[in-house]
Parts: sequence; structure tokens; C-alpha cells
Amino acid sequence: MVSPVLCGLPPEELAALIDFLPRFRAAQIFKWIAAGASSFGEMKNLPLALREALTGRFLLRSSAVQVRYEDPDGTVKLGIGLADGAKIEAVLLAGGGRRTACLSTQAGCPAGCVFCKTGSLGFTRNLTSAEIVEQFLFLREAASHGAPSAAEGRAAIAKGRAGHAVDNIVIMGMGEPLLNLAEVRRALAVITCKQGMDFSKRRITLSTCGISAGIIDLADKGPAVRLALSLTTADEALRRRLMPIAKAHPLNEVKEALACFQRSGGGRITLEIVLLGGLNTRSEDVAALADFARGLDTVVNLIPWNPVEGLKADDGRPLREPSPGEAAAFAGRLKAAGLKVTRRFRKGRGVMGACGQLGVLPAE
Ligand code: SAH
Ligand code: SF4
Repeated sequence: MVSPVLCGLPPEELAALIDFLPRFRAAQIFKWIAAGASSFGEMKNLPLALREALTGRFLLRSSAVQVRYEDPDGTVKLGIGLADGAKIEAVLLAGGGRRTACLSTQAGCPAGCVFCKTGSLGFTRNLTSAEIVEQFLFLREAASHGAPSAAEGRAAIAKGRAGHAVDNIVIMGMGEPLLNLAEVRRALAVITCKQGMDFSKRRITLSTCGISAGIIDLADKGPAVRLALSLTTADEALRRRLMPIAKAHPLNEVKEALACFQRSGGGRITLEIVLLGGLNTRSEDVAALADFARGLDTVVNLIPWNPVEGLKADDGRPLREPSPGEAAAFAGRLKAAGLKVTRRFRKGRGVMGACGQLGVLPAE
């Protein structure tokens, strides 16, 4: 039998699993996991016999970092091996004095966006809550330059600084989070729990390709994280060509879901536009985008396409980056149409750790 993995369990589930122990033990173990303990042996306030008994019955983590690439710009990309042999990636982006952990939610992705490496891999499976929490723990360790001891982690929790090595979390790695919402929710319950990692929900952004029912579910039941929509273009016909999953999620439904999210207090939504040279930077795209954003509180985030060998548009033409002039002109026309616009820094290209490049090893 496979041993249960504890690091992905919210406090009440952990307590239920080890209900043969007094309840305060579950709280102690939860705190140690949050502090970064990777073995029961580190849990010094548990009796030795209990530490040994738990070691035989439960696992604390299920995956392991297999490779680590570091870009001179400070980006760290981790290649992580899962227990069943599947592989995923997680990225730490450093810039402007802030460190952002980018987490994956699926091995591969079923959405099939033509511009995205992960999409070209196809779908393997959903990640478990533990596999998502572990990415955060690994990146937190990478951010604090080597693993701090669990005792140091405990001290950080006591001071309310457990998550401080990472400033923001973006759920923008491999996979579509709203197609794995149950496990994403459990993972976020662990990561944001006040008694443990205590990461602020407002510093977490979940990015979706536009699964309307998932957006409404998130609006209804939380958690109250920030939302980003990978819009790519608001021209419905082009969007369906670039993002095949969009055929099942018409833009009027997506917009209604975003309005619902905003009515429930969700705050400003980021509309992500990956800029594909000569494809989605036309005046039609500007007009459609302005129309889509009307009535919503949004900021448009422009991301020049990060090149990935072999990716092609649906008509077989190779994709290309926009020229700097094309990107600047598009940004200017969006602003002139009254939209708020930001441009994303290109981070992590040297380790193929930038948006859309997950699934490619630097050596390839
Ligand atoms: N599946 C979710 C989250 C992961 S993708 C989603 O699609 O939102 C995160 C972001 O990377 C998306 O906004 C997507 O548009 C962008 N992206 C994908 N491939 C890219 C590439 N090659 N270059 C730049 N951005 C890319
Ligand atoms: Fe999946 Fe997002 Fe990549 Fe599209 S952009 S294939 S939804 S990971």
C-alpha cells in the first residue's frame, strides 16, 4: 500500500487522518511541515517513539527535485520528478527585489494552445495537493539559498515570517488550474493557513485559459485569490484557432463569469495577451479587446511570445515574436482605446523557464 502523503493536507484532513493521536499532535506536525521539515526525525517536540512510528506509516513529501537550472537573471527552474515517474517544472522568478513562485497544477495540459510548449505535450494527469504544495516548499528553499533547517523554519513561523523568502505566488506553470480546482483548493488551503505557511491570498494569482464554470466556482467558494485570464485575443474566431479549448467556452460566457468574480469582491482582473507576431496585434484585436474589457475592472498584461522550437499556428505557419515596434504600437493603440496596459519582463528565457516554455530543458 502507498503511504499517505501529509504535506498536502489542510489541518482538518491531517487531524482526521491521525485521529488516533491527541489533537495537538496534528497541529504540531502541521507546523513542522509548514516550517519545511522533510522527515519526522526533525520534529523535536514529538517523542522519539512516535517519530519512528510515523516514519513507517506516512510520507511527508512525495516528489523530488531532479534538476535545477539557474539563469544569470536570477530565475531558477526546477525539474521535479513525481512518484509515478511523471515530470513537472516549477520556477522562481526574481526581479525588482521580489521573488515570485510559479507553480504547475497538471502534468501536461489538455487545452492545447498552439503557442504553448506545455499544450504541445498533451495531458498526463492532474497534480495532487501535495505535489502542488511541494513545489512551493522547493521554491521557498531555492529562494532562501539552500534549505533552511526545519528549526529555522519554526522560528520563522513563530515570528509570522514563514513564507517571507517568496513574495508572490502565480499559478501559471504547467496545466490549467481550473480543470484541477479541487486539488488546487486543498493546496491553497495549506499554503494560506494561518497556523502554518500563512501566505496571503492577495499575493496569489491564479491564471486560467477561461474555464467559465471554474471561474464562477472560484467566485462562489473561494479562495479569494487574484485572477488572470489568458485572453490572447478577444476576437472569438482567432481565439478558437489559437486556443482550441476556447471552442467550449464562448467569450460572452467567460465575460459573464469574470463579472460574477468581480461582483463577489474579486478585484482587478489581469487580461494576459501573449503577443504573436502578425497574428493577434491587428486593429480588430484592439477593438475586440476594448469591447471585451468594457464594464470590467481590468489591466492588460502584454507578454511577447517566448519562442519554442517547432510550435506552429493551426495553418502550419511558424509562430514568431512580435518586433519591438509591433509590440509598442499595439500597446499604444490599446492605451488610446482607454485600456490600462502593462508589459511583462522577459525572465527566465536562459533556462527555458519563461511563460510557455515549461517542458523544454535548456540543453534541448
Ligand atoms: N493554463 C493557465 C496557466 C498557465 S499558462 C493559463 O493558460 O492561463 C500561463 C501563461 O503563459 C498564459 O497566460 C499563456 O498565455 C502564457 N504563455 C503560454 N505560452 C507562452 C509563450 N510561448 N510565450 C509567452 N507566454 C506564453
Ligand atoms: Fe494549457 Fe495554459 Fe499552456 Fe494553454 S497556455 S496549453 S491552458 S498551460
